[in-house]
Amino acid sequence: MTVQTEILNLIKSAKTIIIQRHQRPDPDAIGSQLGLADIIKTSFPDKRILTPGKQYHGFDWLGQMDEVTEEDYHDALVLVLDTANQPRVDGEFYNTGKTLVKIDHHPNDDAFGDPQWVDVDASSTSELIYDFYAANAAELTLTANAARLLYAGIVGDTGRFLYSATKPSTMRAAAALMEAGADATAVNRIEDTITLPVARLSAYVYEHLTQLESGAAYVILTNDIMDSFEIGDASTAGVVPLPGRIDTVEAWAIFVQQKEGDFRIRLRSKGPAINELAKLHDGGGHPMASGAKAVDQQEIEQVVRELDQVARQYKKEV
Ligand code: AMP
Repeated sequence: MTVQTEILNLIKSAKTIIIQRHQRPDPDAIGSQLGLADIIKTSFPDKRILTPGKQYHGFDWLGQMDEVTEEDYHDALVLVLDTANQPRVDGEFYNTGKTLVKIDHHPNDDAFGDPQWVDVDASSTSELIYDFYAANAAELTLTANAARLLYAGIVGDTGRFLYSATKPSTMRAAAALMEAGADATAVNRIEDTITLPVARLSAYVYEHLTQLESGAAYVILTNDIMDSFEIGDASTAGVVPLPGRIDTVEAWAIFVQQKEGDFRIRLRSKGPAINELAKLHDGGGHPMASGAKAVDQQEIEQVVRELDQVARQYKKEV
């Protein structure tokens, strides 16, 4: 029996299904969560489906989260989507249900859940959920809304089909989702839209980017700088891909100061793997997109040295 069939059987036999995703969500986290919820709700109307997590105003267009209590988890099937590590699950009771399942496309560094369906070659968890639907299309229903949500997740995690995780299967999934009613133009437009403060911060990022000879690059966004642009941590997502558009940049870090004074590090790459570096600094992620933390300026300098080293090594090898 494939893991997908095992998961479908668990869904069929559960009365309450709780679908969770990671903190600080992106379109793939929410798209896969609410997309799967829509598929299960429509296919099995008698089941109770809950989608907990913090509601972010910027993602209202994708849908609404549900309030859950500890009692909801009694005898529940809990599906955790797009979340590599347990501390990053958004919601405190995720491991108190009857069965815990992981569905993800990140490296399986924290192998929780039984069963686990982890495919690191998939572009996104939303693509996995589409595959799950397609493999069981005789028993499942894909509404136009579910198609829109999964399309939004794929577009988000592939940077609109730009990143290397985009495979022919990704394009086939996107086409099938459009055929099922996803308005690709509307979703692409929403995900491409930025606010004026983010546009101005983009100019700051390009202006203040430090680029090293190795192809490593970085910029530091302190609280003072973000305050001057009237921007919070959540709005920095829009500027994270920008350094990668520069021809000479291979790998980059954006240090975003947190209210407590420490820094969230957003690491991206077009070649050298940066997830091992992220793991050294309380983080992790994909080879080409990771996150980590730096407690102070000294750790920032350390990360920059390591990033430089990784980029140098990569230059030697290619
Ligand atoms: P971000 O820059 O926050 O969008 O993170 C990019 C990717 O890195 C995410 O998809 C996660 O897989 C991973 N990631 C970010 N922060 C952490 C962390 N603190 N620990 C482990 N993985 C992380």
